[in-house]
Amino acid sequence: MLFRILKKDDLIKLYALLAEGNRVVGPVKKGGDKDGKAIYSFEEIAAFSDLHLSHTSTKISAKKFFMPFRETMASFRMQGKDWDKKIGFNISSPLVFFGMHACDINALNKLDKVLLGSHYPMPYYAAKRKNMFIVGIDCEPQPYCFCRSMGADTALHGFDLFLTDLGDHYFVEILSDTAYNFMKQLTAKEPAEDDHARYMKVALEKNRKFSAHVDNTDLTKILDMEFQSEVWKKWGDQCMSCGTCANVCPTCYCYGVEESVELDLTRAQKTKFLYSCNLIDFAEVAGGHNFRPESHTRLKYRYYHKHRGFVEAYEESLCVGCGRCGEACLAGITVPEVIASVRGQDN
Ligand code: SF4
Ligand code: SF4
Repeated sequence: MLFRILKKDDLIKLYALLAEGNRVVGPVKKGGDKDGKAIYSFEEIAAFSDLHLSHTSTKISAKKFFMPFRETMASFRMQGKDWDKKIGFNISSPLVFFGMHACDINALNKLDKVLLGSHYPMPYYAAKRKNMFIVGIDCEPQPYCFCRSMGADTALHGFDLFLTDLGDHYFVEILSDTAYNFMKQLTAKEPAEDDHARYMKVALEKNRKFSAHVDNTDLTKILDMEFQSEVWKKWGDQCMSCGTCANVCPTCYCYGVEESVELDLTRAQKTKFLYSCNLIDFAEVAGGHNFRPESHTRLKYRYYHKHRGFVEAYEESLCVGCGRCGEACLAGITVPEVIASVRGQDN
């Protein structure tokens, strides 16, 4: 990894270089919540001034750009005795993500393990993921952020450039050749000792601001022990099975596939759509049998997938601690509270 120091005023020049001929996605302000706090969203932007780089987590993660809620996988058309098949990966041009936080970059790294690195890679994801340029940016921990507990508060890979605000300059981490070639076109200096010291001071101050935590010690074992615990029933009774938590989560990737066929059999379409393991019919099979008819069994499954099964498969959790699910849940169910209660630490 290479490091550079970039004047803040020169960030617009970096943006101009990246935006030339590319679509740029970044955090924009989308109004406010009931308490007057700004709501941010990742959107395609037209100008540098649209970006809000001091944003708190976006309500919904950036996954809509590389794992859309609904996308056509293939379409078929019959014409006489001929038929025509179209398979597209739904990407028109590369995307530059400008201003992604470390938790969301780590979420992408986790998705890569499943959707790129498994026996059956997902080409619809791969096509988009391989055509991304990511400029990460440091963030200010919010009361709901527990990314530090999940080891996702800093990103070590999965981005091209990463910016840390040092006041009048950015400390820039360069990770890819492409990023290096862009940075060469700007006036950026190599960091001096006092820049390193300023970076470490900023990192220390950030670390002190985390107030939400999850105790992951021996968590897989504890989950095994507490599989029949009554706490799952308690949380399940509160859960409304709305699926919002999966919708906002940057690492939830479960999906369903729908096939629709015209009555005259001339056209058909295969569509992929994101799904949530908390929805009532997630484990329903042909014939109508539902393996998880009760809300607590579905909620428990979500926690076991993220904090137990994924750890067994990849030696890391499928949760980056962004806190989005807890913030969005109308029943007020948060990961730190659920895990604490399973550990018997909620009294
Ligand atoms: S958002 Fe909350 S209420 Fe809705 S499914 Fe998730 S845990 Fe249940
Ligand atoms: S489970 Fe919740 S806290 Fe964890 S990554 Fe998903 S939305 Fe973020």
